[in-house]
Amino acid sequence: MKPLDPENFNQELEKKVKKVIKEYGLIDEGDKVAVALSGGKDSVLTLHVLDKIQRESDFDFELLAIAIDEGIEGYREDGLESARNNAHQLGVDYHEVSLKKEFGITLDQSVSYYQTACVPCGVFRRYLLNKTAHDLGVDKLATGHNLDDEIQSFLMSFARADVRRFAKFGPRQQRIHPKMVPRIKPLWCIPEKEVGMWAVLNEMDVHLAECPYAYQSLRSRLKNYLNHLEEDRPGTKMKILEFFQKNLKINKKEIKLSECEICGEPSAASICKACEMQEFVKNQLEWNNELK
Ligand code: SF4
Ligand SMILES: [Zn+2]
Repeated sequence: MKPLDPENFNQELEKKVKKVIKEYGLIDEGDKVAVALSGGKDSVLTLHVLDKIQRESDFDFELLAIAIDEGIEGYREDGLESARNNAHQLGVDYHEVSLKKEFGITLDQSVSYYQTACVPCGVFRRYLLNKTAHDLGVDKLATGHNLDDEIQSFLMSFARADVRRFAKFGPRQQRIHPKMVPRIKPLWCIPEKEVGMWAVLNEMDVHLAECPYAYQSLRSRLKNYLNHLEEDRPGTKMKILEFFQKNLKINKKEIKLSECEICGEPSAASICKACEMQEFVKNQLEWNNELK
């Protein structure tokens, strides 16, 4: 078998990303785009490919990066290091926000009160990403979701009968509240395997370790299951995505958000999930004398 030529591989990958950006109108001329940067291969690729498009095309937009430190000891620090290095290497404006500083608690302190760590992690991270992006005047928040992530999320929502989440599928979200920064997914059509190959072929500085809480998640189990299925029946993942593209047309305008009575951020309920969880965790920690 002929060895892969990194240059050709990169060009093909970039072509696919550009196609999604164009077809779905992910970025408009003059947009301020922030990449949600974890230091993992997906978000690092998103940063590099957007930076290349920004520098090489006459399509004008601003690029910056936002990283969240959830407070996962022995894991997150290495990811943040990669995030900082990549942003620095490209000269991209980098912003780091920590759960400890913003909420007074870390994810490590919160996990024992939930079935899986991913529940508070997802709520706190989404909240801080959106709030930081909005405070910085960002127009679009680019996440590193690849084709595999999208299919996993899709099946997770099925498994939980969570119809509201279906509105979050697709490479571009609409603005459903003035303070809600729309998310875009430039890697929407890129399989995870190709993202991994990009990182290896280009010897990228990416954080490859798995989160110590990942084993608890439904996503991780679905990921293994889908990988087995794909091995047995190649093309299964793409078929699931096609099914979704053809059949799922949720009216995104039906989702109405108001503002949280405590923090003023967009929320479906009178108190947002992040405020509700913070209060719950702090009460538990106080009760157990563990609030430092
Ligand atoms: S695996 Fe779960 S806990 Fe770990 S970073 Fe991802 S969402 Fe957070
Ligand atoms: Zn709130």
